[in-house]
Order: sequence, then C-alpha cells, then structure tokens
Amino acid sequence: MSDSNTAATEENAPGTPRTPSNFVRDIILEDLRTGKYQGRVHTRFPPEPNGYLHIGHAKSICLNFGLAAEFGGRTNLRFDDTNPEKEEQEYVDSIIDNVRWLGFEWQEPVCYASDYFDQLYAWAQQLVRAGKAFVCDLTADEMRRYRGTLTEPGKESPYRNRSVEENLDLLGRMKAGEFPDGARTLRAKIDMASPNLNMRDPVMYRILHAEHHRTGNKWCIYAMYDFAHGQSDSIEGITHSICTLEFEDHRPLYDWYVDQLGIYHPQQIEFDRLNLTYTLLSKRKLLQLVQEGHVRGWDDPRMPTLSGIRRRGYTPEAIRNFCGSIGVSKTNGTIELGLLEHFVREDLNRRALRAMAVLRPLRVVIDNYPEGQVEELDAVNHPEDESAGTRKVPFSKVLYIEQDDFREDPPKQYYRLSPGKEVRLRWGYFIRCTSVVKDANGGITEVHCTYDPETRGGNAPDGRKVKATIHWVSAGQAVDAEVRVYETLFTRENPNEVEEGQDFLSNINPASLEVLTGCKLEPSLRGAPAFGYYQFERLGYFCVDPDSAPEAPVFNRTVALRDSWAKIEKRGKG
Ligand code: ATP
Ligand code: MG
Repeated sequence: MSDSNTAATEENAPGTPRTPSNFVRDIILEDLRTGKYQGRVHTRFPPEPNGYLHIGHAKSICLNFGLAAEFGGRTNLRFDDTNPEKEEQEYVDSIIDNVRWLGFEWQEPVCYASDYFDQLYAWAQQLVRAGKAFVCDLTADEMRRYRGTLTEPGKESPYRNRSVEENLDLLGRMKAGEFPDGARTLRAKIDMASPNLNMRDPVMYRILHAEHHRTGNKWCIYAMYDFAHGQSDSIEGITHSICTLEFEDHRPLYDWYVDQLGIYHPQQIEFDRLNLTYTLLSKRKLLQLVQEGHVRGWDDPRMPTLSGIRRRGYTPEAIRNFCGSIGVSKTNGTIELGLLEHFVREDLNRRALRAMAVLRPLRVVIDNYPEGQVEELDAVNHPEDESAGTRKVPFSKVLYIEQDDFREDPPKQYYRLSPGKEVRLRWGYFIRCTSVVKDANGGITEVHCTYDPETRGGNAPDGRKVKATIHWVSAGQAVDAEVRVYETLFTRENPNEVEEGQDFLSNINPASLEVLTGCKLEPSLRGAPAFGYYQFERLGYFCVDPDSAPEAPVFNRTVALRDSWAKIEKRGKG
C-alpha cells in the first residue's frame, strides 16, 4: 500500500488531480516516503455547526479533500458539535449541502464529535484515575483570576489535590445532573506555570443543562472543544489534522491528552486563515448580520457564505481554482477580493451562454420598419464554443436599449447612439438616430431611428463602419424581470477597521444592493432555471435567483464583465 501510494505521489499517476505544491503537501510527501502512517493519508474537515460555511472554509475544504484525493486517501466530514447552545440542525444540513456542492465526497458516514461523548467521558474518568484531572469548584471569575497572564504564572486551584475517589464521585454526580450550570468543572492537572495559557489546568468538562441537537437531554455536562477535538481525530485515525494557525497554541494540549491516554496520535499541521478584502469571515459577525437583518439571510448574495456566493452565481470550479491559486503558508495575510472575482469571470466566461438584456430601458422606435412585422435574427450563444449553437432573437419596430447607450449631447469620445449618429445593433442592423421625444420635465422618453435593411447581420455592403455595437431587446417579445445588482457589503477594505466608538456595522455599504425592476430580457431567457448563469452581453454575468418564477424572473448580477478594480480602489481610499 505504501509503495503504490509513494509512486503515485512522485509521478502523479494519471487521473489524480495534483494539488499545488505547498508545505502541508511536502509534509505528507515526506510521511509517505518514510512510511510514517503506513502510506495512509486520512484528513478531515471539522466544522462546528454554529453557522454557515464561508469562503474561508472553502480553502480548508479544498486543502483537506484535495490532498487526500491526490494521494489516494480519505477525508472525513466531522461535526465538532460540543457546544449545544450555539449549534443547530439547520447548520448541519447546510454544511453537508455546501461541501457536496463544492464537489467533494467524504468518507461515509458523516462523523460527529457527539458520537464520541461516551468514549470521551470514559477517557475523562481514565485521566481522573491516573491523577491527571480533578473536579474544581472555582467560579468562572475565580478561575480567570487564578489563571495568571502571559507574563505571570497562574495559581493552583485549592481543589487541585482532591483524592481520586472524591473526583470520580463528583464527576459522576456532575454527569447525573446534581449540580447547576457553572457550579463545577473537570480540569486537567497540567501546569499552572506553563508559558502556554492553554496548559494551565484547562477545563475539560463544564456543566450545561442544555439540549443537544443530536443527543437530546442525555448529557448535562459537555466536553470542551479542546478535550474533544484531538481525541476525535485519534478515534477516526486521522493522519494529518490540518487546521488554521490559531490552533498552534492548542497543539501541545491536544498532544498532552492523547499521550496521557495512550491512544493513536494524529499529527496537527497549521496553515494561514483566508482573509479577503471588503469581506468579514467571522461566523459570529455573519450571524449578527443575519439576525439584525442587515442582509436578507445566510444565503444573501452579498454574504461570503458558500450559500450566498452560490446564489450570487459563483461556481464551484471558480472557487476551487481560487483556493488552489492562493496557496497555504504560515503567516496570515489578506487576499484581494478582485482575485476571487477574476476566477469567477474566468470560469463563467468559459461556460455561460450569452444573451441580451436591458437593465435600464430606453424605448427606440424604428420609423422605417414595417408596423407589426417581427423577424428572427440568428445570435451566437458562445463566441468561443461553436457547439453551444445559435438561437433566434426577435426584431421589430419597437426596441429597448440601455439608457446609457444614448446621449443627446455626446461628449467627444462617445461613440454610442446620439442624434444623427449610426450604431450597430448586436446580431441586427445599423440604426441611425433621427429625433428624440421628451416628457414635460425634459426627460427623454423615446428615441426615433431609421434602420438600413441592407445591414442585416451587422455589416454594410458599402463597407461603411460604425464605432459602436450596442445590445437591445425587442419590446413586443421582451420578458420583464427584476435584476439585483450588488456591490461589496462593506465600504472598507478591512471592515474591522472602525472610527472610535463604532463597530463593523458602521462600515456597511448602503449601496450594496440595488434592485432594478422593469428590466427587459430577450425571450429565450423565459423559464431559465434557478442558479442558471448567463453573460448578458456588455453587462456582466448574471444568474437566476431562486426567488424567480417563470412569469416573474429574478436575476442576480454575479460580477461585472471587467474588474471594477479602479472603482474599488477609489472607494478604498475614500
Ligand atoms: P469560529 O469562528 O466559530 O471558531 P471557525 O471559522 O473557526 O469558527 P470552524 O467551524 O471551527 O469555524 O471551522 C472549520 C474548519 O475550517 C477549521 O479547521 C478551521 O480552521 C477552518 N477555517 C475556518 N475559517 C477559515 C478561514 N478563514 N480560512 C481557512 N480555514 C478556515
Ligand atoms: Mg473554530
């Protein structure tokens, strides 16, 4: 087994996706070479079900699943569900759904730390019997005071030297529900003078009379995350326990537990958390945005959650490519949001079919086009993929164009439609503007044009040129739609940077959502399926929102065509 594994790694056997080289991968390669785990590679992705997954989790998912897949190994999906007060089945369901959507398959069955509660309790008793754990009656406040600081050692608890018998008895009574929440804890007996605060007699169990989403009311004491995590990895035979840098200081504690218990020892490796500009990736803050109604839910397309960016129209492939490109390291940094958008554009450019839509319609009447006539023009579905074929788009006397594509008094470099000027209609004819109709306030309500019947298909037989091609939709056949246009949810590159006395909410972008109604779509878009994505020519990538109905389509703008770099940069400075 180890032989074939090693061979596959160095040569990258055909069919195994190669993950980008990085220090975690190097460690695995070395372990395979030395046979440390008999050639096994077994990783896990261990979310706590206390919120929805976000793009930061995607980095961890891609790393864990990607490395295991490359080396013919396995990955567990494990819920670290040790905190019943903050955890819910809804989160479990969304996480399972998101991991699958991203394109990864875990080793069945899904694992839960709560499946190990009996085993963890038995291990707690084992540590008590070995004189390595004790029941402590200090209150949370007292415990904090005894704990010391980074520069001062802590003080030992007066309950530290209870007898094994008394500790076992009290622990049993804690479990039996004899004491109220917070009355007692079980603590590891390690070293109150350790420079690592995590090693100063950390709490292993707390009393919490709370119902758990899986174990119901069976337990009224719950293991702390730190007492559950390492042993869960051990139970599952995880080889490489890959986690983010903030757990580096916890590693000695995880090691201490498995060593004291004498059980299988996984190896923890820490890497840098993903941070993105204009984005918050703290579950606590994301929850606050949802609960206080700053966004429309966990799957609001402005949210960095996987459910949100999926609804926005980001594809799993784009996210995986992004995660592969950012690498992993030992120092936390911040990635530009523009890079993620780059991968979204790159992927959508490849797969999105083209269509025409007018977001801010202006009526155009072609005076010399026969009343009541409708003709079907051929439009190409994808300029770089012939197999995507063509479709028919109706053309008639009354059309809509984008308000932006007309100027009554054009500035010098403006080549789109203006009085007397000629432009090409995409897939259609040349039209020339002859006059303008205005309302009482001077607003332009309608533009009149003539078309040149000789230019069908977009070229003039006399060889004359036009400087602009604009998109359009025939009025009689247009589908009315709502289009939601998004900007970043925060105005600051670092949303946590705030003025004195303010919090991150003060950085919310009031213009992050613009809802456009009365948009006009070409009729081929009628009935487009939820999550279907398109390039609206000249406008960007758009995706069908699940709120959409056949007669009332709703689209989200995923991303504009070119990166809005300049704009973002300007706003960042402001
Ligand atoms: P909390 O803020 O509640 O501690 P968390 O963001 O750490 O939550 P978990 O559910 O504990 O979320 O995370 C599951 C896994 O995803 C962990 O291994 C964690 O290290 C990893 N992870 C979380 N956030 C990021 C991030 N921004 N970048 C990379 N990995 C992350
Ligand atoms: Mg965490």
